[in-house]
Amino acid sequence: MSTAATALSPEILAKYQPVIGLEVHVQLLTKTKAFCGCVNQYGGEPNTHTCPTCLGLPGALPVLNRQAVEYAVLAAKAINCEIRETSVFSRKNYFYPDSPKAYQISQFDKPVAEHGWIDVPSFDESGAPITKRIGITRLHMEEDAGKSLHDGFADSLNRSYIDLNRCGTPLVEIVSEPDLRTPDEVFEYLTRLKEILLYTGVSDCNMEEGSLRCDANVSVMLKGAKQFGTKAEVKNVNSFRYIRAAVQYEIERQIGVIEDGGRVVQESRLWNSSEGRTYSMRSKEQAHDYRYFPEPDLPPLVVGAEWQKEIFARMPELPEARRARMIAAYDISEQDAATLTATQSFADSFETAAKKAKSPKRVAALLTTELTMRLRLKELELAQSPVSLDGVVMAADLLEAGTISSKQLKQLLDTAFENNEDFPAVYEREKPQQISDAGAIEKMIDEVIAANPKQVEQYKGGKKTVSAFFVGQVMKLSKGQANPALLNELVARKLDAQ
Ligand code: ADP
Ligand code: ZN
Ligand code: MG
Repeated sequence: MSTAATALSPEILAKYQPVIGLEVHVQLLTKTKAFCGCVNQYGGEPNTHTCPTCLGLPGALPVLNRQAVEYAVLAAKAINCEIRETSVFSRKNYFYPDSPKAYQISQFDKPVAEHGWIDVPSFDESGAPITKRIGITRLHMEEDAGKSLHDGFADSLNRSYIDLNRCGTPLVEIVSEPDLRTPDEVFEYLTRLKEILLYTGVSDCNMEEGSLRCDANVSVMLKGAKQFGTKAEVKNVNSFRYIRAAVQYEIERQIGVIEDGGRVVQESRLWNSSEGRTYSMRSKEQAHDYRYFPEPDLPPLVVGAEWQKEIFARMPELPEARRARMIAAYDISEQDAATLTATQSFADSFETAAKKAKSPKRVAALLTTELTMRLRLKELELAQSPVSLDGVVMAADLLEAGTISSKQLKQLLDTAFENNEDFPAVYEREKPQQISDAGAIEKMIDEVIAANPKQVEQYKGGKKTVSAFFVGQVMKLSKGQANPALLNELVARKLDAQ
C-alpha cells in the first residue's frame, strides 16, 4: 500500500476529482440534557451529572427537552433547511461501553429538518473566485454518549474508565451532500457553519471541549467519471486546520492506492496530527446494522406552524447578511467585513466605535490590523484590551485629521500595550511632536527632491504615484513627525512646480 502520498506528481493528482461530504455533530447549549433534568455542562466530577434516565436504568423514561427542539429548529432554519412538522425519534442500536442503554436515541427516516444549504467562497477551474452552494442533506436531533477514559490512571494499561456526565447531552447532526471538492472548501464550509451556529447561540462550538465534532467522508474518482468512488470516513480531528490537512492527506492516499493498482476500501480512519496521516480504524465493508426502529418511549415530535414562527422570530441577523449590511453602511472592504464579523461581539464592537468615529474605514483598519495584532501577541481578547473602543475612536479620528502619522500611532499603541494604559491617557502624556510648520516641511521636501532627480523625472514624465515615495522619504527625514495631511499637500505642490 502506498503511504508516500506526497510522492504523487501534479499530473497524476490532476487526473482525479476528490469528493467530500461532512457530518458535523454539535452540542446544544441547553441548561439540561436532552431527555432528563440533569445539568448539561462540560466537565465535572465523573458520573455526577447523571440520573436513572441518562444512566439507562430499566424503567426510566425520557422526556424531550423543549429548548433542545427550539435550538435544533433555529439552527436548521439558519442553514436554510425545511422543517418537518412531524419528525420521529428512533433507536439506533449498538453496544459500546460509554452508552449504557446499548442504543442511542436519534432520528432516522424522519429527521426534524432537511434540504438546506450554505454558500461558501471558492474558485472555479480558471481560478476565478466564485460562491458555491453546498447542499445540506439533513439536520437531525440525537443524544451524545458518555466518555471512555484511558489516560492518567495508575492502571491505565489494563482498564478503561467510564464517565457518563456527557451521556444524553443534546446534539444536532448536520449532514452535508457530497458537494465539496477541495480541502479549502471543507475549511470554508466548516468556518461558515460554525459562524452561523455561534450567531444563533445554539452552541458554543468549542472544538477542544467536543462541542463541535466533524467526520469527513472522502472519495476520489477519475475526472469526468459518472460514479463517485468508494469513500473512507476520517474521524477524530479536532481543529478545522487539521481537518483540511486530513482531507488533503486522505485524497492523496486514495489516489496512491488506485495508482498502485489497488482499490479504496470503505472504512473509518483516524487522523494522527503529530504524524500528519490517517490510520485505518475499522472496516465498514459491511454496513452496520443499527436495527433502527421508532423510539417507543417518545411520541412523534410535532413542531407546528405556530411554534415554528415563534422560533424563527428569534433568528438574529446572520453573518452573511451582516457582512453585506456593514459593507454598505460603513464603506469597508469585503476582507475587513469578513474579519470583523467572525464573531458577533467583534462586529458589535466595530459598529459601536464606527458610529462615533469620523471614518468607520479607519476604525475597521485599526481593529483588524494594529489592535488585533497586539492583542494576539499578548494573547488577549478584545474585551481585555488596554485600549478601549473609545480609545480606538480617538486614534482613528487623530489619524483621519492628520494630527498624528501612522508611525506615531503605532508607537502610541505600543506604549499603551506595554503599560496597560488606554490610548487617550498615552496620547495626552506623549503628545507626539507634530511638525505643522509649512516652511520646515518644505525645506525637507526640497532636500529630498534634490537628492532624487531620477524620481523627479519620473514624476514629470507622468508617473504621479512616485509622490508617495517623496512623502515617505520626508516622513522618514522628519522622524515620523511631519503632519501627514500637510506633507501630502506640499509634496504634490512642490513636485508639480518642478
Ligand atoms: P453512510 O450510509 O455510510 O453513513 P451516507 O450516504 O449517509 O453514508 O453519507 C454520509 C456522508 O458521506 C454524507 O455527508 C455524504 O455527503 C457523504 N458521502 C456519501 N457518499 C460519498 C462519496 N462517495 N464520497 C464522499 N462523500 C460521500
Ligand atoms: Zn440524567
Ligand atoms: Mg448515513
